[in-house]
Amino acid sequence: MKNNYGNLDLSFLNEYDDENIYKELLKYDGIGVKTISCVLMFAMRRDAFPVDTHVHRVLNRLGIVKTNSAEKTFEKTKDIIPKGRKYELHSNLIKFGRNICKAKNPLCGVCFLYSECGFIDKKVLPVKVQPVKKQETTISLYSKIFKPVSN
Ligand code: SF4
Repeated sequence: MKNNYGNLDLSFLNEYDDENIYKELLKYDGIGVKTISCVLMFAMRRDAFPVDTHVHRVLNRLGIVKTNSAEKTFEKTKDIIPKGRKYELHSNLIKFGRNICKAKNPLCGVCFLYSECGFIDKKVLPVKVQPVKKQETTISLYSKIFKPVSN
């Protein structure tokens, strides 16, 4: 970047549309669509949808996409999420993937998406309930995890 532009300032990207920002940053080794989507979403406040391992896993288990990599999940989903909802969906899928639909031993027994979920192994996995504080119900646990997110 320094060779091309003489400095390490990314502010010139503000003049670019999203597609050209992806094109520009993909030229650099080690920078992929997830990183670029994070730059767009968190640094530039654009309506982007970073797909990390949690987002990829949950969307595949639910059957919303059928892909074998986060990059392919990104390609399949980037144009189908309603405008203005990507940040909220991204944040909630990460919380859901970390707390309920975990990589190992997902908590299917307490999952409100159980009836919608296409994950073939959901029935045979042990039902485990996260240790919750005294008097904390599943509903109050969910309401903590899925706080509405504003952009
Ligand atoms: S039912 Fe299980 S696998 Fe399906 S979304 Fe819920 S936690 Fe994930």
